Amino acid sequence: MTTTTTSTLKNFINGQWVEAKTENYQPVPNPATGEELAQVPISTIDDVNEAVKAASEAFKTWSQTPVPKRARVLFKYQQLLVDHWDELAQLVTEENGKSFKEAYGEVQRGIECVEFAAGAPSLMMGKQLPDIATNIESGMYRYPVGVVGGITPFNFPMMVPCWMFPLAIACGNSFILKPSERTPLLANRLAELFKEAGLPDGVLNIVHGAHDVVNGLLEHKDVPAISFVGSQPVAEYVYKTASSHGKRVQALAGAKNHSIVMPTADLDAAVKEIIGAAYGSAGERCMACSVVVAVDDVIEPLLQKLNTAADQITIGNGMDENVFLGPVIRPEHKARTASYIESGEEEGAVLVRDGRKDEAYHEDGYFIGPTIFDKVTPEMKIWKDEIFAPVLSIIRVSSLQEAIDLTNQSEFGNGACLFTKSGSDVRQFRERIQVGMLGVNIGVPAPMAFFPFSGWKNSFYGDLHANGSDGVEFYTRRKMLTQRWEF
Ligand code: NAD
Repeated sequence: MTTTTTSTLKNFINGQWVEAKTENYQPVPNPATGEELAQVPISTIDDVNEAVKAASEAFKTWSQTPVPKRARVLFKYQQLLVDHWDELAQLVTEENGKSFKEAYGEVQRGIECVEFAAGAPSLMMGKQLPDIATNIESGMYRYPVGVVGGITPFNFPMMVPCWMFPLAIACGNSFILKPSERTPLLANRLAELFKEAGLPDGVLNIVHGAHDVVNGLLEHKDVPAISFVGSQPVAEYVYKTASSHGKRVQALAGAKNHSIVMPTADLDAAVKEIIGAAYGSAGERCMACSVVVAVDDVIEPLLQKLNTAADQITIGNGMDENVFLGPVIRPEHKARTASYIESGEEEGAVLVRDGRKDEAYHEDGYFIGPTIFDKVTPEMKIWKDEIFAPVLSIIRVSSLQEAIDLTNQSEFGNGACLFTKSGSDVRQFRERIQVGMLGVNIGVPAPMAFFPFSGWKNSFYGDLHANGSDGVEFYTRRKMLTQRWEF
């Protein structure tokens, strides 16, 4: 199907496929079947150093390439990604497990990032004020930062890398991507297609691996900027380590997203959105709905509708038509999810629907069915922790303010949704909630590429978020020129 789905993956350095300087390889299984797709190298610091050298060299020319010329490569890349849409989506499904339909949507989200980045000539513009004093003017000019390191998670093998390298590269930087070692295949194809689009060698490099590659990037003196997306403890570590080495860092982290359902809500519409957000991508989304906060007497009809909808979900291999819920990423993650379900029961939550009882749970793939807990409380681990699996917790409260206060107790602040028919509810929610990405009557309020991905609290470490104007600021540095001319 692709030229890169071979048994042993290589790194992509200076436009060439290079064998990693390591004996250490890990299998990459298809989570829906357990079959091995590839072996991924766990590269070493020597591989990182080689990539940084190539990227530093390429930066010299690429940063001097006129912006419209850089943008033209992005336009060509966009077309190639569109041409290969099905193939890319299939790769996502094979290595990640999500349904083909969702993978197709993910590819769209990636392409949108490339489209945004192709606007580089406008995005890179500076600002001027012709008269800050008599005969004196000031202007701001934008320049790339240098070699950027990007470290990405397993759950969006296409979209999350595309939050980073297209914009960084359009802004004139060179880039080293360390994809998740659990979903490394797609990244190689993305690099291959970028080369085909005319990207000069060394501008985009891929070094596969784990901690050693990450640490190599965080500590390298010639890498001035790090973009990271992944779990909260690793994001915090990456932020602290990279910033202590003098780098700018954006580290997007974990989440626990609440959906508040008011008694006035259109329940059928709300349930459709919540089911999609809780169980889509097997709950492995940073914008997944993992908690429903049921306000007042909405609980009984809501619970009944959620349960009925969860029963109708088709579980299986994401390549099969009509499958909605694919596997989780690894057997260890399935076991961890099962232990969270046990802990929920032990702590006194009511297990309304048990995903361990679905037939697929006993198949070779790493399946776990839709799970629903009712009467969850903020003391329970299933509320506090990001489970990152198809497990939905329901908390009962008696007012919107109580729902907001409860949501605000979470250490995370990525997304929150409100289902209501009241404008005043919406205003109260928007003004009082301590969360960065809000949805009203919508399940997954993930911003598009031209807006920043705005997590708060422990869902984000840094100052400038990914995407949109924040992304441009992050991948550029400014020069201020103040000049006096008399005439
Ligand atoms: P992860 O933290 O395990 O891995 C992310 C990256 O960090 C991978 O490339 C991995 O190799 C590397 N890594 C892992 N442990 C490391 C360590 N100890 N030292 C150095 N590097 C390390 O995350 P994951 O399981 O791949 O992805 C899921 C997580 O990502 C979830 O928590 C999810 O919420 C989060 N996520 C957040 C966003 C967001 O926008 N906030 C988006 C997508 C995913």
